[in-house]
Amino acid sequence: MSAKRLLLVGGVAGGASCAARARRLSEDAEIVLFEKGPYVSFANCGLPYYVGDVIREEQNLLVATPELFRERFRIDVRVGHEVTAIDRADRTIQVRDRRTGTLYREPYDALVLSPGAYPIRPPLPGIDLPGIFVTRTIPDSRAIRRWIEEKKARRAAIVGGGYIGLEMAENLVRRGLSVTIVEMLPQVMPPLDPEMAEPVHEHLRNSGVRLLLEHPVTAFEARADGTLSVHAGSGVSVEADLVLLAVGIRPETALARAAGLEIGAAGGIRVNEQLRTSDPAIWAVGDAVEVRDFVTGQWCLIPLAGPANRQGRIAADAIFGRPSVFRGVQGTAVCGVLGMTLALSGASEKALRRAGLEYEKIYLHPGHHAGYYPGARPISIKLLFHPRDGRVLGVQAVGTEGVDKRVDVIAMAIQKGATVFDLEEAELCYAPQFGAAKDPVNLAGMVAANVMRGDAVLAHWEDLPASDAVVVDVRSPKEFEAGHLDKAINIPLPELRDRMEELRPHGQIWSYCGVGQRSYYATRALLQNGFPARNLSGGYLTYKAIQGTRKRGK
Ligand code: FAD
Repeated sequence: MSAKRLLLVGGVAGGASCAARARRLSEDAEIVLFEKGPYVSFANCGLPYYVGDVIREEQNLLVATPELFRERFRIDVRVGHEVTAIDRADRTIQVRDRRTGTLYREPYDALVLSPGAYPIRPPLPGIDLPGIFVTRTIPDSRAIRRWIEEKKARRAAIVGGGYIGLEMAENLVRRGLSVTIVEMLPQVMPPLDPEMAEPVHEHLRNSGVRLLLEHPVTAFEARADGTLSVHAGSGVSVEADLVLLAVGIRPETALARAAGLEIGAAGGIRVNEQLRTSDPAIWAVGDAVEVRDFVTGQWCLIPLAGPANRQGRIAADAIFGRPSVFRGVQGTAVCGVLGMTLALSGASEKALRRAGLEYEKIYLHPGHHAGYYPGARPISIKLLFHPRDGRVLGVQAVGTEGVDKRVDVIAMAIQKGATVFDLEEAELCYAPQFGAAKDPVNLAGMVAANVMRGDAVLAHWEDLPASDAVVVDVRSPKEFEAGHLDKAINIPLPELRDRMEELRPHGQIWSYCGVGQRSYYATRALLQNGFPARNLSGGYLTYKAIQGTRKRGK
């Protein structure tokens, strides 16, 4: 397209990517980017680490400046300028210069909305008290830092255990504060399935974080000594010098709504696969839009930086006539908290259940690199796949090392429609300090492929209470004594072949070990000797995680 006037609303992840890409595609276009805040292209994802003093200088959060945009890209960036209305009929926007209050209009040929999302502040008593913060912008983080220093804050209450709550917990601990996380749900990090969040709970508690699950906050109160009480139901209150609200965000759709653009069922601006809104001259990207879940096909809100940046590029492509399309989101995410990493991609079990889709699942707990090389640390992996064609549907992993790289590889497999047989055959990096000749990704594929081929016959722990199967613990007597299922009998794997006949009178035999590997060997031996045997997926480690979620459910 020839000379064009492209206006953008919002100058951070989606808006800045779109503007820069637009210039690379068109030297002629006039590009103006409006940002109501004081900065463009800042690192929102770095904000928790600025609070934690890992990032010491505020200016390190500024990925680009208006000057850089002007000099490098000849893009006119107007910070402190808020777009207040869109007139679709005559293709103009109304802008308010926040410093002077002046209102003016600007015409556009193409308009891109990337206004992001705003943090939810539930209308609870005391919500506006001093000392209660959110983390969305650089000024928010600066205010938290200043409060910690001026008030010599020692105790923090974080309301919400999503990834921002967890990252803030880590950083406040780093600043020497004692931290309580108050979460309404029975688990932190809601996109994870509950049993996969269990190790995170244990890790938080072991790291000295107080974790109150199933505690909906009902009010905040200022105390006479200047500190705050967070009332968390059932008579529980948490005393704190600083409160951080991290209870989620909502897409910023006010402008779009007022302009009559279509808003979808999930509450985001509705766009097509080229990020075009219901108005052919307006595109929208980032946290403000709703997108198709790549696996379930459902409309959803997944506010992450990767999709926002890619959508920005695709919208620019579309505006300048290229055929790029957005593939949908997988929700690939990673979060580090106090030495633990949790990561996921694709659909969770709960999402698949909600969507009414068929799935099978496996659990495994391999080391992050070869066991013979010092320092191997376990990763707990849950893989979800289609039971008939083996397509990989989702992955979740929790551990201390090597978690992100396994989830990244499987994320790509999900995006390419790959199967568990492809994971089995994936050729990946191996030297002892980095991985294993059978990498955890291969192992996940092998275990799942064994299930697909009928070599591994699984049982799931949640089906155990309703089953009359005899449960055989094939670990050593010492491991058995250290903790086992009440109904289990102990036949250590080395004795199994000699003692198999003891099991003959029983019907189904479900075996387990520590992580599911020895019991797989046991199941294979039993099956080949004519016993109806199954392997309890993920072993005792997964059982304990599931038990943890059940205890709380009572
Ligand atoms: P934003 O980047 O939020 O930009 C929107 C901009 O639009 C804002 O600056 C706003 O001021 C401006 N604006 C809004 N309305 C107007 C208007 N009317 N006129 C002018 N300007 C306007 N994602 C990850 O993938 N990994 C992470 O580790 C991660 N960590 C995060 C940590 C924190 C603390 C936060 C807050 C977010 C984090 N995210 C992370 C999410 C990620 O930052 C967002 O998904 C991404 O920034 C969304 O991009 P966006 O362009 O839609 O919105």
